[in-house]
Amino acid sequence: MIRGQLYINGQWRDSDTQETRGILNPFGGQAVAHVAEAGRAETKSAILSARRAFEGSDWSKWTSIQRAELLEKLGDTIEQHAEELARLETLDTGKTLIESKWDMADIAELFRYFGALAREDHSETLESPNPNSKSVLVREPIGVCGMILPWNYPLLQAAWKIAPALATGCTMVIKPSEITPLTTLKFVELASQLSIPPGVINLVLGPGQTVGAELAESLDVDLISFTGGVETGKRIMLAAANNVKRVALELGGKNPNIIFADANFDVAVDYALNAVFFHAGQICSAGSRLMVHEDIHDQFVSVLGERIKRIKLGNGLSKDTQMGPLISAAHRKKVENYIRLGVEEGAKLVIGGARPQEPELQSGYFVSPTLFTNCTNEMRIVKEEVFGPVITVERFSDEAEVVARANNTIYGLSAGFWTQDRARIERVSKSLRFGTVWVNDFNVYFARAPWGGYKQSGNGRELGRSGLEEYFEQKHLYENYEPEALKWFGK
Ligand code: NAD
Repeated sequence: MIRGQLYINGQWRDSDTQETRGILNPFGGQAVAHVAEAGRAETKSAILSARRAFEGSDWSKWTSIQRAELLEKLGDTIEQHAEELARLETLDTGKTLIESKWDMADIAELFRYFGALAREDHSETLESPNPNSKSVLVREPIGVCGMILPWNYPLLQAAWKIAPALATGCTMVIKPSEITPLTTLKFVELASQLSIPPGVINLVLGPGQTVGAELAESLDVDLISFTGGVETGKRIMLAAANNVKRVALELGGKNPNIIFADANFDVAVDYALNAVFFHAGQICSAGSRLMVHEDIHDQFVSVLGERIKRIKLGNGLSKDTQMGPLISAAHRKKVENYIRLGVEEGAKLVIGGARPQEPELQSGYFVSPTLFTNCTNEMRIVKEEVFGPVITVERFSDEAEVVARANNTIYGLSAGFWTQDRARIERVSKSLRFGTVWVNDFNVYFARAPWGGYKQSGNGRELGRSGLEEYFEQKHLYENYEPEALKWFGK
């Protein structure tokens, strides 16, 4: 049984109250770990430790080359421990082991990418309007960063924040989701062996309403970087007004996947499945809103349905499993409620919609892969984030109409479309109002490409140079080499 503690100012410790939380495996439901449960007091200590490390420790004297070397070492460390980390991620989230391994490979690559960025000079010389003067834009670390994370990609999402924060010289308090802390705990344990000054990385475990809220409200936190649901994001934004801290929000999505009649049919069907059923649909960018041209609609739905029926459910740790369980009993209820709503709203339930019957699946929080057709824009299953293995299909006849419908959402995280028509590719990519648009592909992310949402899917960007910029303050430094008196006032 794994035991997890808080990591504050370079020390592992329990919470003041000795409270703990059992961490459950979504396949089987049993506890695989017990971890310390912090409250506001321990979170305040962690913030103070990050503040001291930012203002007074050796960390502030580290050169960017030293920080780059640290990031590169972290990349190597993740790679060396990828197998163990991936197993932990699967135990904690239920996703298949192969998906967890992809995550670890991405994380190693990400640390190396931000290591390379840390080596660059981020200052800019500006042309001064005055002779005998110098004007420079200097980029400095923003300070103490609070990082609040979701349960679906625990270590990947944490790494998207930790790597740029270390690259710029910030200090941090990391708060993983209270239900999936295991890989972040392991990561902090590995990082703690790399001679990072105490207080640079702090880890607090516990609920959002106390630990997360303390980070969001604190006068001593300079940036909150949050990934999670829209409603939580709004609460965090309000709380952050307390000291006008910077807020970076990566929120939910309802992501259209549009299939034009001239699409490569077989590949588009294949990706329509990939877009939704990885991690049982619990992906912010899941292409759960499928829009298919009327000329190919019936055939597309028929082939898609045959493939959906063959998806192999099971334990994420088993080699032949294609889709694991949902994260928790409560989340399964939420998904089942959406399925009920879909039927009530008049969508046609073609496949799935219930729990699987196989005895070996009864201990996991499974919902069978589900296909709805005859869907319309007004339905809640089309408008809202279901976050489960559910595809809704809408039929369309016209390019302008489908683009307008796809854009008719409060979200703007990602979208995909499939066509072989070059002119249409240009038109539709320009018209879709989403932070990422994939053409003839879906769910591609990499370290160089900024990630974030339009509209209520968030603000700011992670990854890429924009992801680094979030952790910088900009200072304009102006020096006059030969000041002369103006002799304007009271001469
Ligand atoms: P959530 O909003 O319920 O929780 C996220 C985190 O916020 C958790 O750590 C939680 O403890 C904390 N929290 C809850 N209430 C809080 C409060 N009042 N103050 C401060 N912190 C608080 O989200 P979730 O269910 O863990 O994750 C799923 C959501 O995350 C989905 O909506 C998904 O789309 C989104 N997500 C977005 C991205 C992206 O890149 N845009 C990536 C992954 C997940």
